[in-house]
Amino acid sequence: MNIALIAHDKKKESMINFTIAYKGTLAKYNLMATGTTGKLIQDATGLNVKRFRSGPLGGDQQIGAEIAVNNVDLVIFLRDPLTAQPHEPDILALLRLCDVYKIPVATNVATAEILLRAMERGEFQWREFVQKYED
Ligand code: PGA
Repeated sequence: MNIALIAHDKKKESMINFTIAYKGTLAKYNLMATGTTGKLIQDATGLNVKRFRSGPLGGDQQIGAEIAVNNVDLVIFLRDPLTAQPHEPDILALLRLCDVYKIPVATNVATAEILLRAMERGEFQWREFVQKYED
Protein backbone atom coordinates (compact mmCIF):
# COMPACT_ATOMS: atom_id res chain seq x y z
CA MET A 1 0.00 0.00 0.00
CA ASN A 2 1.28 3.44 -0.97
CA ILE A 3 0.43 6.69 0.78
CA ALA A 4 0.94 10.18 -0.66
CA LEU A 5 1.47 13.02 1.81
CA ILE A 6 1.15 16.73 0.98
CA ALA A 7 0.77 19.72 3.27
CA HIS A 8 0.46 23.38 2.46
CA ASP A 9 2.80 25.67 4.38
CA LYS A 10 0.40 26.59 7.16
CA LYS A 11 -0.49 22.90 7.59
CA LYS A 12 3.04 21.55 7.70
CA GLU A 13 3.18 21.59 11.49
CA SER A 14 -0.04 19.56 11.59
CA MET A 15 1.43 17.11 9.10
CA ILE A 16 4.60 16.71 11.16
CA ASN A 17 2.61 16.13 14.34
CA PHE A 18 0.38 13.65 12.50
CA THR A 19 3.30 11.68 11.11
CA ILE A 20 5.03 11.61 14.49
CA ALA A 21 1.82 10.36 16.13
CA TYR A 22 1.27 7.68 13.46
CA LYS A 23 4.91 6.87 12.77
CA GLY A 24 4.46 3.21 13.73
CA THR A 25 1.57 2.81 11.31
CA LEU A 26 3.11 4.83 8.49
CA ALA A 27 6.31 2.79 8.69
CA LYS A 28 4.38 -0.22 7.34
CA TYR A 29 3.62 1.51 4.04
CA ASN A 30 5.45 3.09 1.12
CA LEU A 31 5.37 6.84 1.55
CA MET A 32 5.67 9.53 -1.08
CA ALA A 33 5.37 13.29 -0.68
CA THR A 34 5.86 16.66 -2.28
CA GLY A 35 9.37 18.04 -1.76
CA THR A 36 9.23 20.19 1.34
CA THR A 37 6.58 18.12 3.08
CA GLY A 38 8.63 14.98 2.51
CA LYS A 39 11.81 16.54 3.83
CA LEU A 40 10.11 17.77 6.99
CA ILE A 41 8.55 14.34 7.59
CA GLN A 42 11.89 12.59 7.07
CA ASP A 43 13.67 14.96 9.44
CA ALA A 44 10.99 14.73 12.14
CA THR A 45 10.34 10.99 12.03
CA GLY A 46 13.19 9.26 10.23
CA LEU A 47 10.60 7.60 7.98
CA ASN A 48 11.66 6.75 4.44
CA VAL A 49 9.78 9.05 2.05
CA LYS A 50 10.04 9.19 -1.73
CA ARG A 51 10.13 12.89 -2.50
CA PHE A 52 8.85 14.59 -5.61
CA ARG A 53 9.23 18.24 -6.62
CA SER A 54 7.83 20.91 -4.34
CA GLY A 55 4.09 21.35 -4.87
CA PRO A 56 4.24 24.73 -6.63
CA LEU A 57 6.99 23.37 -8.91
CA GLY A 58 5.05 20.34 -10.12
CA GLY A 59 5.01 17.95 -7.15
CA ASP A 60 1.22 17.74 -7.09
CA GLN A 61 1.22 16.83 -10.75
CA GLN A 62 3.85 14.15 -10.16
CA ILE A 63 1.70 12.60 -7.46
CA GLY A 64 -1.27 12.85 -9.82
CA ALA A 65 0.72 10.89 -12.37
CA GLU A 66 1.35 8.18 -9.75
CA ILE A 67 -2.38 8.04 -9.08
CA ALA A 68 -3.05 7.60 -12.80
CA VAL A 69 -0.89 4.46 -12.90
CA ASN A 70 -2.44 3.00 -9.74
CA ASN A 71 0.59 3.64 -7.51
CA VAL A 72 -1.32 5.46 -4.78
CA ASP A 73 -3.80 3.91 -2.33
CA LEU A 74 -4.36 6.84 0.02
CA VAL A 75 -3.78 10.59 -0.25
CA ILE A 76 -3.37 12.74 2.83
CA PHE A 77 -3.44 16.31 1.57
CA LEU A 78 -3.58 18.85 4.37
CA ARG A 79 -4.79 21.87 2.45
CA ASP A 80 -4.80 25.43 3.69
CA PRO A 81 -8.35 26.58 3.05
CA LEU A 82 -7.59 30.20 4.00
CA THR A 83 -4.68 31.06 1.71
CA ALA A 84 -4.67 31.40 -2.08
CA GLN A 85 -2.17 28.99 -3.68
CA PRO A 86 -0.30 29.80 -6.92
CA HIS A 87 -0.67 26.19 -8.03
CA GLU A 88 -4.43 25.94 -7.43
CA PRO A 89 -4.98 24.28 -10.84
CA ASP A 90 -2.54 21.51 -9.88
CA ILE A 91 -4.31 21.00 -6.56
CA LEU A 92 -7.69 20.69 -8.27
CA ALA A 93 -6.21 18.32 -10.83
CA LEU A 94 -4.83 16.07 -8.09
CA LEU A 95 -8.13 15.98 -6.25
CA ARG A 96 -9.94 15.34 -9.50
CA LEU A 97 -7.74 12.32 -10.21
CA CYS A 98 -8.51 10.98 -6.73
CA ASP A 99 -12.16 11.03 -7.74
CA VAL A 100 -11.49 9.57 -11.19
CA TYR A 101 -9.66 6.59 -9.67
CA LYS A 102 -11.64 6.39 -6.41
CA ILE A 103 -8.64 7.03 -4.22
CA PRO A 104 -9.49 7.78 -0.59
CA VAL A 105 -8.29 11.33 0.09
CA ALA A 106 -8.15 13.22 3.37
CA THR A 107 -7.89 17.00 3.27
CA ASN A 108 -7.80 17.51 7.02
CA VAL A 109 -6.29 15.73 10.01
CA ALA A 110 -9.61 14.37 11.31
CA THR A 111 -10.28 12.49 8.07
CA ALA A 112 -6.64 11.48 7.80
CA GLU A 113 -6.86 9.69 11.14
CA ILE A 114 -10.02 7.85 10.16
CA LEU A 115 -8.62 6.71 6.81
CA LEU A 116 -5.23 5.67 8.14
CA ARG A 117 -6.84 3.61 10.91
CA ALA A 118 -9.11 1.99 8.35
CA MET A 119 -6.12 1.16 6.17
CA GLU A 120 -4.37 -0.40 9.16
CA ARG A 121 -7.42 -2.59 9.79
CA GLY A 122 -7.14 -3.89 6.23
CA GLU A 123 -10.28 -2.13 5.06
CA PHE A 124 -8.75 -0.98 1.78
CA GLN A 125 -8.91 -4.33 0.02
CA TRP A 126 -11.99 -3.18 -1.90
CA ARG A 127 -9.69 -0.98 -3.98
CA GLU A 128 -8.28 -4.05 -5.71
CA PHE A 129 -11.82 -5.08 -6.48
CA VAL A 130 -12.68 -1.71 -7.94
CA GLN A 131 -9.57 -1.84 -10.08
CA LYS A 132 -10.32 -5.33 -11.42
CA TYR A 133 -13.95 -4.50 -11.99
CA GLU A 134 -13.12 -1.45 -14.09
CA ASP A 135 -10.27 -2.89 -16.14
P1 PGA B 1 5.70 21.22 -0.60
O1 PGA B 1 4.47 21.29 -1.55
O2 PGA B 1 5.58 20.00 0.22
O3 PGA B 1 6.91 21.16 -1.48
O4 PGA B 1 5.69 22.48 0.22
C1 PGA B 1 3.17 21.24 -1.01
C2 PGA B 1 2.29 22.21 -1.71
O5 PGA B 1 2.34 23.39 -1.41
O6 PGA B 1 1.50 21.79 -2.59
